[in-house]
Amino acid sequence: MRLFGLLASGLLAAATAAAGDGAAPGLVDIVGRFEKLQIANESAPVANLKLASGHLECVLATGRAGFVKAGDEVVGLYFDGSGTMEYTSVDPVEAPVLTYVAKKSTSLTPEKMDGGLKVKDKFTRLLWLAAGEKLPELTGLGPLPLTASFRAHREKFDRRRGTPLSFGFALQRFNAPAAPYVWVEMQGGAEDLLYTHDGMENPGERLAFLHGPSSHETKLQDMLFGATLSSQMLGWDRRDPPRPRFVLIDLDLDVKASVDKDVRLTVVETLVPQRTALSVFRFNLDDTVYTSFGAHLATRTERVRKITDEQGRALSFAHEHGELLVQTAEPAPPNQPVKLRFELDGDFLVQPGGSDFWELGIWSWFPEPRLCEQYYTFHSVVRVKMPFVPFATGRTVRRTQEGDENVLETKVDDPITFAVILAGKYDFKEDVRDGVTIRVATYALKNDRAVKQLTDLATTIIGFYKEFLGPFPFPEFNIIEIDDYGFGQAPAGVLFITKEAFNPLGGTQENQLYSGGVNERFAHEIAHQYWGVSVKMPSYEEQWLTESFAEYCAALFIKAGKGDAHYKSLVGHWKGNSRFALDKAPIPLANRVYVANDATSEDAIRTGLLYDKGPLLLAALHRELGDDAFFTFLKSYQKSFRWKFGSTKTVAGLLQFMTKKDFGPFFEANYWGTGLPKD
Ligand SMILES: [Zn+2]
Repeated sequence: MRLFGLLASGLLAAATAAAGDGAAPGLVDIVGRFEKLQIANESAPVANLKLASGHLECVLATGRAGFVKAGDEVVGLYFDGSGTMEYTSVDPVEAPVLTYVAKKSTSLTPEKMDGGLKVKDKFTRLLWLAAGEKLPELTGLGPLPLTASFRAHREKFDRRRGTPLSFGFALQRFNAPAAPYVWVEMQGGAEDLLYTHDGMENPGERLAFLHGPSSHETKLQDMLFGATLSSQMLGWDRRDPPRPRFVLIDLDLDVKASVDKDVRLTVVETLVPQRTALSVFRFNLDDTVYTSFGAHLATRTERVRKITDEQGRALSFAHEHGELLVQTAEPAPPNQPVKLRFELDGDFLVQPGGSDFWELGIWSWFPEPRLCEQYYTFHSVVRVKMPFVPFATGRTVRRTQEGDENVLETKVDDPITFAVILAGKYDFKEDVRDGVTIRVATYALKNDRAVKQLTDLATTIIGFYKEFLGPFPFPEFNIIEIDDYGFGQAPAGVLFITKEAFNPLGGTQENQLYSGGVNERFAHEIAHQYWGVSVKMPSYEEQWLTESFAEYCAALFIKAGKGDAHYKSLVGHWKGNSRFALDKAPIPLANRVYVANDATSEDAIRTGLLYDKGPLLLAALHRELGDDAFFTFLKSYQKSFRWKFGSTKTVAGLLQFMTKKDFGPFFEANYWGTGLPKD
C-alpha cells in the first residue's frame, strides 16, 4: 500500500493521525513504536542461550528472557540474569586505538588472539533487537513479566545521546528490508555496552561503551554518550571510501535573520538516490544547541516546521538528537533527482561571548547528509536586519539594502561542501587581484592597514599556490575577522581568522608578515580551498587529505618565503608534536581517540596525527621524490580530483603511476599503521 504524506506537526500528532485508517505504518509510526518498546507479559527461563551477530557472541548463562515488541510486532528479546559477551576485532588497522581507548577509558582489557583482539565482558541485563536476522525461540514462557527490570534498563540507555535506536530500524524497514540491522544493549558488567550491526549501504558493526559528559554542567549531567571501541567494515575495505546512499547535488537557501538570535530558513535540497530507490532520507540536523554565556549554559532550539516535495505534499519526518529522517510520498527511484523543501526556524543564532556577530558555520544547521553524500552547487539569499552585514560562500549575485535589511545573494556553480553564512557589525573592502576578488571584513572597526596587509598576504599565498595547485578554486574569497583569539577555519570560499591577524603590525611589514605563526596559519587556511573544499574528503577517516596537505602546503610557502631553516624548524616541530600520538592510533582513526577526563591528551593525539605526523609523511615523500616530481604530484592530484572526492588510495595510486614504484607498503606501514618513515 502506498504511504501518504502526513501532516508533520510534531512526532506525536503525526503518529495519531496515521493510526486509525488502516494504512501501512509510516515513518512516524515506526519511530514511535521503537521509542516505546514494550516487554511481553511472559518470560521464560534460559540457560546457556547463545546469541550472535557479526563478531559479537553473547551467552545468556542463566536467567529469564522475554520478547520485546514494537507495537504488536516482536522485534527482539530482553534478558535479566547473568551472561557473558565476546567481541572480536579482526581489523589490524584499529588494533592500536582499540587497545589505547580500552586501557585509558574503560575497565576492559582486550586480549590478543590469533587474527585479532578479543573484548570480553559480563552483563546482567541485555536487550537484543534484530531486523533481518532470526530471533531465538523461547520455551517455557510463563506469566512472570520482566517489566520493572526492562523499564530500569531502558531508562538508562534512553539517556544516551546520538543516533536514536528507532532511526536505524526505520531506515532498514523502508529502504533496505532485506539487510540485517541489529542493536544490542548490555549493562551490569565492567562497562555499559552498545553494539550495532548495520547491513545497509556500508555494512559494518560498532562496539561502543557509554560514558558521562566531560562537562560538569548540570544540564548535561544526565546525558550519556557512546564512545567507539571498535568499528569494523563487513565485506568491504576500510581503505575504500564509504558509498553514498544519495547525493545532495544542489542546496538553495533563503535565510531571514534578526540581529539577535532568531532566524528562519527555507532550504531546497536536490537529492539523487544512488543504486536503489529510497523512501526515507537521513540527515544530520541540529535540534538543540548548547551555548555558554559566562557560567551559564543556555539552550537554543532549531525546529523543523514543514517539509514538502515538489508537488507541495507535506512529508512526514522525525527529528531527534541531531538527526532527521524524512519519508517521501512514494519511493524515490535511483539516479533521478528529487527536491525537498524544508522550513526551519529557531533561536539558534549564537553571538559568541556577546559579540555582535553570528555564524552558521561548519555544523549541521541545514539538513546535511554524510560527507560522502555532499556534493552540491549552492545558491543563497540572506536577509539580515541592519546594521548587521551578511557574508556567504560563493560569488556575489547582488548585495543591496531593502527596507531595514541588508540583503546578499550568492552562487557557486561547482560542487562544494562546507557552505557557511555569517553576519555582524562588519566593515569590508574588496580588491580584485589576479582575477580573484579578495574581500577582507574587519569586525566592529575599520582597519584599512590590516585590510591592505591581509589582501597582499592572501594574494601572495594564492599566487604561490597557483604555481603547483592550479587556479584558485573560487572567483571570490572572503577573509573575515572573528572576535576571538587563536584559531582559523576554512569553509568554502571563506576564511574565518581571529583578531591577532588583524592587529596593526609594527616594523617592516614584510618581515612581520613572514615571521609569525599568523602567516603559517593564513597559508594553512588558504590551502584548504584546495585541500578540503575543492578536493574533498569522503569521510573523517580521510581528514589528513585536508589537514595534513594544507599544513604541508603552508610549510612550502614558508620555505619559499623564509628559506630552508624555517622549513626545517617546522619539520622539527612536527616531529616533537607527533611523538606522543604515534603509537596511540593510525592517522585515519585520529578522530576516534577518546580519553576519559583528559581532553588535553585526546586533542594532542588527534592534532599530533593530523597536523604533525601527516605532514611528516608528506615531507618524507617530498624527500624521496625531489622537488620536481613532488610538485608535479601535488599538481596532478589537484588536477585529477578538483571538485571530486579524494582518498589515500588514489594518492598512493598516483604516486605509483608517476614513479613506477609501489607505494602500498609505505602507506600500509605509516598511514594505516603506526609507523613513521626514517629521515
Ligand atoms: Zn586546517
